[in-house]
Amino acid sequence: MSTIPKTHLISGFENQGSYEEIKTLEVEAPQITTGSDVIIKNKYAGLNFIDGYFRQGVYPSTVRPYIFGREASGVVAAVGKDVTKFKVGDSVAYLSGNTFAQYTKIPETYTQILNLGSGSLSEKEYETYGGIFLQGLTALTFVNDAYKVKKDDFILVWAAAGGVGTFLTQFAAQKGANVIGVASTSEKLEKVKKLGAKYVINYKTEDVVARVKEITGGKGVIATFDSVGKASFETSLEALSRKGTFVSYGNSSGVVPPLAITRLSPKNITLLRPQLFGYIVEKDEWEHYSKFLVDSVKSGKVEFEITKIYPLSEYAQAAKDLESGTTTGKLVVKIPQ
Ligand code: NDP
Repeated sequence: MSTIPKTHLISGFENQGSYEEIKTLEVEAPQITTGSDVIIKNKYAGLNFIDGYFRQGVYPSTVRPYIFGREASGVVAAVGKDVTKFKVGDSVAYLSGNTFAQYTKIPETYTQILNLGSGSLSEKEYETYGGIFLQGLTALTFVNDAYKVKKDDFILVWAAAGGVGTFLTQFAAQKGANVIGVASTSEKLEKVKKLGAKYVINYKTEDVVARVKEITGGKGVIATFDSVGKASFETSLEALSRKGTFVSYGNSSGVVPPLAITRLSPKNITLLRPQLFGYIVEKDEWEHYSKFLVDSVKSGKVEFEITKIYPLSEYAQAAKDLESGTTTGKLVVKIPQ
């Protein structure tokens, strides 16, 4: 007999729009319907900007209610009769949609999941595993696959105190690069320095291009990791050196408008608009990067800080906080058990 209840609580929306459209809803819970189904009872799930983009309609969606959440930690609550890789009671951490929910169903063959074994984890570990993967793996894959950061490179990291930014700063600095971290306040920049950035720029009070030129002896940076999007695009382009790489990966200030490809010619710029999932499709890619990330966090080589945990029912406030641009580190929601 399945222990999955008929209904469960989710955070989602019926109508696209602003924060008032975020609702905690009681909907039908997923059930085991095929032999390969795995149902996870979620414990903690990380906040990410992408949920806001779906809510606002920046990215399209059709299923209603739309359930927020892209990553979580939890415990396997039920498995189909043919499942061998997971047992009820196994702790797991995974990347998937629909994680702002008490229960999430995935197939046993699902790739982007780590089975953490049958021993129960500490609450702190569930918190960490619920929030490290999306931003941590974005940074890790980007410094290896989008632009292979090398020793002595000068690298510009936007929103360096933010979710992806804190990981980017640390991974790039650990490769021996000269990280130039950009952020909006002196508190954020202090943090960025502690994470290993050699130089910091407050874009509210300083001219980013002039400072980059000063730091790099007039050459510019070999790569820019730009999550801010619309507001920083031109500055990033100007700050790049000849043969530089522009990794444009986010829209915090708005989507980058279309541009003429000829804009890249004067400095032979390489421009990418990568997404994390494109780098972790294959099982070996997922295993390589997720293990590296977990080891880095566990060993303390990489600092990861959850700055606030919200109950699932307060996700609207959490989304407001994240999207205001004032937060640092990681925000997570705690799923009611
Ligand atoms: P952050 O924690 O970095 O938060 C966003 C930061 O952007 C803010 O803290 C703020 O830092 C800065 N910012 C600058 N302008 C604005 C603005 N107008 N409004 C809000 N914030 C602004 O978020 P994440 O690391 O989670 O994500 C950053 C971006 O990267 C998002 O667009 C996200 O969707 C994208 N992303 C893309 C991925 C991909 O696969 N392509 C994967 C993961 C994230 P400051 O005050 O210092 O400027």
